[in-house]
Amino acid sequence: MTDSTSLFATALAQFERGADLIDLPDDLRSILSQPKNEVIVNFPVRMNDGSYRVFRGYRIQHSNLLGPYKGGVRFHSLVDLDEVKALASWMTWKSALCEIPFGGAKGGISFDPNTLEVDELERVVRRFTHALGGNIGPDHDIPAPDLGSNAQSMVWMMDTYANSTGTTERQNVKRIVTGKTLETGGSPGREKATGQGVVFCLQHWADEVGFDLVGATASLQGFGNVGSAAGRILQVHGARVVAVADHGGAIADEDGIDAFELTDWVREHGSVAGFPRAMWIDPDDYWAVPADLLLPAALENQITVENVHQIQARVVVEAANGPTSLEAEHILADRGIDVLPDILVNAGGVIVSYFEWLQNRSAQRWSHEDVDFKLRDTLWQACDSVADLRAELEVPSRRDAAYAVALRRLQVVYKQRGIFP
Ligand code: NAD
Repeated sequence: MTDSTSLFATALAQFERGADLIDLPDDLRSILSQPKNEVIVNFPVRMNDGSYRVFRGYRIQHSNLLGPYKGGVRFHSLVDLDEVKALASWMTWKSALCEIPFGGAKGGISFDPNTLEVDELERVVRRFTHALGGNIGPDHDIPAPDLGSNAQSMVWMMDTYANSTGTTERQNVKRIVTGKTLETGGSPGREKATGQGVVFCLQHWADEVGFDLVGATASLQGFGNVGSAAGRILQVHGARVVAVADHGGAIADEDGIDAFELTDWVREHGSVAGFPRAMWIDPDDYWAVPADLLLPAALENQITVENVHQIQARVVVEAANGPTSLEAEHILADRGIDVLPDILVNAGGVIVSYFEWLQNRSAQRWSHEDVDFKLRDTLWQACDSVADLRAELEVPSRRDAAYAVALRRLQVVYKQRGIFP
């Protein structure tokens, strides 16, 4: 396997390694190695200059064995079928691993949201939701934010869906999406949930290997929803952010970059470019900046054979989905650098999405403390399961052990339910 492997092929190779560990039968391998449904929609949207542009959107439903399909929608120019299939399968493993009663799905639209006016973006999101129609539903398939989308996108999706249902149903369909704003039915703690979960997993790892997070240095690729929250929370726990890269460039400061000030800067200016209280560095030099904790929190396939040798970290924490190529992962293992796998580390988003869905279902509002406590508990249980199975099977890779935990749970349910008819 090399860096040129497609993302879905990478996902399948990871799945096969986990399946081998538990001798998953061939019939289950064939079922789980393809999504159940692949929905592609092409829809026209009026632009502000009066022209019409046709957009292509995807919703891939990988598995609903454990519950409704669940997963984010990504807005990015590189979105394609292969990518969304991989991302959908990772959602299935994530929910199974964390014992969340959801299946796995993912969606997206291939376009760059930064190039549109806000009202154009709103029309794209609403028209996409309308085009998906009955393929999504509050107990069938529940979208959430991902790269390039946010709480506002979710509110537009919810409002469009609600207005397409019967009048008496409207109050019942809030949970059609999660990751909404607090005012429209979102959960306390959802916005920072993925970053918060990343830090909970890091704490578990630090405890396991005897590493002190206080005074540790951290480097973040991506300073959006996930990266910025992880950076701020790490700083609160006494770590120092020493380098950050995003689509606009890269900055570094060995004395520490204030993650709160940087969050304000990025909110106002759109990227880390121009941040005055750090040194501007060549993005090609970013991977070589020494830091104990390396958190890829942007796109997939970022740590590759080309840059893996530059990395000087104690642990790679996969806040993004699929940031490490198969080949690079082998090299990290040979170099003794731990990898905390995406399906565990970034599961905080889907866990708190589940909490939001539960709150909407029962018309309740939980406290922020409650949400954080339950999130930590859920993630630490998943971390424990991975550590136990890793010890039982004597397998060095945390990713392989995490897959084995998830696949065992799916296997048990398949065994008990059987395959219809
Ligand atoms: P976001 O859109 O909020 O932020 C993305 C960040 O990546 C931005 O800082 C952007 O500048 C940066 N980026 C984009 N292209 C880049 C490039 N070529 N080089 C360097 N940086 C680049 O997205 P997000 O929600 O923070 O998602 C980030 C990752 O986390 C994705 O892999 C996503 O699938 C994963 N994830 C997100 C959530 C969630 O709740 N949002 C949950 C689980 C996993």
